[in-house]
Amino acid sequence: MMIESYLCINKRMSVVKFLMFNLRKAFILTISTLLVFISGCSLYTPTKSDSIHLKLGNPSNAANSDHNNYLLVKKQYALSYNRDKGTPNWVSWQLNKSWLGDAPRTNNFRPDDTIPKEWNRVLPNDYTRSGYDKGHMTPSADRSNNPEDNAATFLMTNIIPQAPDNNQGYWAELESYTRSLANEGKEIYIISGGYGQQGTIGKRKVAIPERIFKVIVVSEAGKELDGINESTRVIAVDTPNYNGNKESRWSKYLTTVDELEKKTGYDFLNYVDKSIQKVIEAKVDRGIK
Ligand code: MN
Ligand code: MN
Repeated sequence: MMIESYLCINKRMSVVKFLMFNLRKAFILTISTLLVFISGCSLYTPTKSDSIHLKLGNPSNAANSDHNNYLLVKKQYALSYNRDKGTPNWVSWQLNKSWLGDAPRTNNFRPDDTIPKEWNRVLPNDYTRSGYDKGHMTPSADRSNNPEDNAATFLMTNIIPQAPDNNQGYWAELESYTRSLANEGKEIYIISGGYGQQGTIGKRKVAIPERIFKVIVVSEAGKELDGINESTRVIAVDTPNYNGNKESRWSKYLTTVDELEKKTGYDFLNYVDKSIQKVIEAKVDRGIK
C-alpha cells in the first residue's frame, strides 16, 4: 500500500516534471521563433527595396519612419526626402541605354503628391527669382525613353536649389559624359544630393545646400550587384553650390566616396561587399583628364 502510493506519487511527479520541461522548451521555442521573426522583419523592411535604383545601397537607410529621411521609390528613381529642407537628401537611379530615347523634355515642374498629405509641398514658384535653378538630381535627359518617365524627373522632390554656374556648367557636362558611357553600353548607378546649408528660398523655405555631390558607379550591363568588383570604376565629385566658376571642368572636383561619406554621414554602396567598398571607395577616378 505504502509502496504503491509512493510509486504512484512518483509517477505523477515525473509526469508533471515531464510536462513542465516540455512546456519550458515550447515556451523558449515560441519566444525565439518570435524574436527571429521580428528581427527578420525589421532587417528586411522597409529600408531594403527591390527597386532597381537601390541595388547598390540605401545610403542613409531611408524608410518611412523619419520625416527627414523619408524613402520614396518611383519607377524612374528612388530618393530620401527631407521634409524640413524641402529637398531630397539624395536621389539614386540606374542609367543604361534602355532609359534613353527621343522623348522631348516635358518641363512640367510640379509638386510631388506622393509625400504625406499633411506636409508642405514645395512648388516651382518657391524658386522664382531666387537666383537658383531648379536643379534636377535625376536629369531630364537621363529619362528620355518616354514622356511619362521624363515627366517624373520634374517632380519637385527630385529638385534642389542649384547655382546656375554649377548646374549649367560642369554639372551638365558630367551628366552628358555619364550618358555617353550609357550609350556605349555601360550600366551605371548614380547617387546625387546636397549637403550643408546656406539659407533658404521661397515661401516654403527650401534649404539651399552648400555643396552638391555625385557618386557614379560604372558597371557592365545586366549584372547589377554582381557586376561590382575591386576594379569597378567609381566617379565621385564634391562641387561648390555657388556662382563664379562656370568654366571649371568637373574633373577639378573629383574626390573619393570615403571623403563624401565623412562629409555627409552616409554609407554609399552599402549593399556592396565591405571588402569591395573598401577598395572602390578609396580611389579618385582617373578616367579622363
Ligand atoms: Mn541640371
Ligand atoms: Mn560605403
